[in-house]
Amino acid sequence: MPAAPSAFFTPAMALSMAFAAVLVLGLLLKFWLASRQIRHVFHHRHEVPPAFVGHITLAAHQKAARYTLAKAQLGLIEMVLGAAVLLGWTLLGGLNALNQALLEWLGGGMVQQLALLASFVLLGSLIELPLTLYQTFVIEQRFGFNQMTWRLWLADALKSALVGVVLGLPLAAAVLWLMGAAGAWWWLWVWGLWMGFNLLLMVAYPMWIAPLFNKFQPLADEALKARVTALMERCGFQAQGLFVMDGSRRSAHANAYFTGFGAAKRVVFYDTLLKQLTPGEVEAVLAHELGHFHHRHIAKRMVLLFGLSLLGLALLGWLATQAWFYTGLGVQPSLALLVPSASNAPNDALALLLFLLVVPVFTVFLSPLLAQISRRDEFQADAYAMQQAHGADLASALLKLYKDNASTLTPDPLYVRFYYSHPPASERLARMPSVAAAA
Ligand SMILES: [Zn+2]
Repeated sequence: MPAAPSAFFTPAMALSMAFAAVLVLGLLLKFWLASRQIRHVFHHRHEVPPAFVGHITLAAHQKAARYTLAKAQLGLIEMVLGAAVLLGWTLLGGLNALNQALLEWLGGGMVQQLALLASFVLLGSLIELPLTLYQTFVIEQRFGFNQMTWRLWLADALKSALVGVVLGLPLAAAVLWLMGAAGAWWWLWVWGLWMGFNLLLMVAYPMWIAPLFNKFQPLADEALKARVTALMERCGFQAQGLFVMDGSRRSAHANAYFTGFGAAKRVVFYDTLLKQLTPGEVEAVLAHELGHFHHRHIAKRMVLLFGLSLLGLALLGWLATQAWFYTGLGVQPSLALLVPSASNAPNDALALLLFLLVVPVFTVFLSPLLAQISRRDEFQADAYAMQQAHGADLASALLKLYKDNASTLTPDPLYVRFYYSHPPASERLARMPSVAAAA
């Protein structure tokens, strides 16, 4: 142990202070950005921006403003609650108390560690529950987007919990086992496991998990099917099938996406999308999605994700052996860490949880960079779509989706730079032919 107890400024104290300081800084930054967004949307609510006059009515513009403000205000509450819960788990001793209680009940070992992870997840979702319900049954309801019934919500919750147990528990057990048994390089093994799990999930999700929640039917509209198939051939894209998903069971928001990879890719249209868009517009939206494949955005993002998780796991591999990592975050590690020969409770689940709790506090400041990359990808996909389909169709599809989803046309520019994964409508439309050309 390098730490001298007599030193005034121990590594644990330094970590506590750095953690608290960065948490407050991030909170102030997020609060400032949110208040900018709220003010900007509020001040621009009386007038449709000139570029959209004739396409978006004042009533639709004002609905979008009200919807954006309602979500932003809920976001502020979530932010404060999230920070309070985080402090509660760490510096105020919540995780330590939970861990000690489970140790007394179950003793140290794999069962106790899994119980710690499971009860952490369970408590976390219970704390978030009121806000999740408010989002769906109050905000989404008020703006006419919610289609969920309480019955469906409950069924979804039970199914999600079941999927979480079936997939999450064996994964967690395997990770904990590797942490305990694979020696100093355990994190490399866990990284391999994590990569394999993600690839497996890409196959398993469309085949077995998504059908638990939605019905998928082959696209029946022959004319649209011919059009979409021709587009995919033009783009040199192979998919195993075109499906329509009953997204309208839960929400009026519309979407289209691809799942799977390699030859097992599927194209999925929400029924809400097909209802709102003309065949030409559907083709343009699909061409945009194909643009993401053409530019290998998904593959690049996975490489980035795998690279970041390797870095993160290597860091955790080191932190998990440092006593100050635990004590600095309000947790008393068991003796096994301090005296390596002691046969005592392992600290692996604690280390995992602390890491997952604390890392986002420090990586908030990376979000402008990630959002920037994502917005660049969207422009590239739009450009590709304009080569493969009609640009005017893409423009009118975009307008309809913005209108039907009540997305604000007047976001705060700085808020956009920090958070927006998609460029605002005005910036995207500025690069497209005018909508009037489609009519
Ligand atoms: Zn996109």
